Amino acid sequence: MKEVQYCMSDGIIDSHCHLDNPAFDGDRQQVLDRARSAGVRGFVIPGTTQESWQKILDLALLHDDIHPALGLHPYFCGEYAPGQIEQLQTLAEAAHPVAIGEIGLDYYRGKGNQELQLQLFELQLQMAQNLGLPVILHTRKAHDQVLDLLKKHSLKGGISHAFNGSWQQARQYMNLGFCLGFGGMLTHERSSRLRTLAKAIPLEYLVLETDAPDMPGAAHQYQRNSPEYLPEVLDTLIGIRQEDRQNIAATTTANVKRALALPDKTPPAADQTDG
Ligand SMILES: [Zn+2]
Repeated sequence: MKEVQYCMSDGIIDSHCHLDNPAFDGDRQQVLDRARSAGVRGFVIPGTTQESWQKILDLALLHDDIHPALGLHPYFCGEYAPGQIEQLQTLAEAAHPVAIGEIGLDYYRGKGNQELQLQLFELQLQMAQNLGLPVILHTRKAHDQVLDLLKKHSLKGGISHAFNGSWQQARQYMNLGFCLGFGGMLTHERSSRLRTLAKAIPLEYLVLETDAPDMPGAAHQYQRNSPEYLPEVLDTLIGIRQEDRQNIAATTTANVKRALALPDKTPPAADQTDG
């Protein structure tokens, strides 16, 4: 096994991983342990469907370093049933998630469901505005539409996850107070456009993510992705930007904390006592 490479001061945060996913049902605790040993000091789990919400909240109750977000993912809008927006509102008011997410528009697989996606996205943006919460965005082939909608709301910013837009679009997100998430895709050498972006974007707007169990990096192709691989994204970013490791780790961590106003509730695992 690899030696622990990171000291406490340069812990990194996985700003987007689906640890609630059934892919982790068999070894979730081991995955968390390995990720923590690799220096991952926080895990943001965004909601996808109504079914996911309670599982995510339960995980956050069990683990101080897990931060829950709640939302309806555009990709799964086919599973939407009437009443779920109201349930989301009630739960978000009671459970204090760090964000509404992941929400957005996904026009990658054609534009079926487009209308429902748009409707759910707007309702959830409005909810985030009313609750004073940031948002975690999932956007594919729809950045201009998403940016237009963001401008019509008064939001606390957030994160545009797995950013894959243009430099111009990146600039607009930054102007709206959003950080941009980069993950496993960056580790593939063929991702030259993405790498150019990750080099050009000011460090103060970058956050690291895995999107586990999806989007595995170059070293884990066709395998389950995992937050324990987040240091590989950090290493890639260091190689691309040619900047100091400590600085990139500390700044991207500070960025997630700022973007999602994360509570500081993360004592080192070894110091936790039963009292
Ligand atoms: Zn996701």
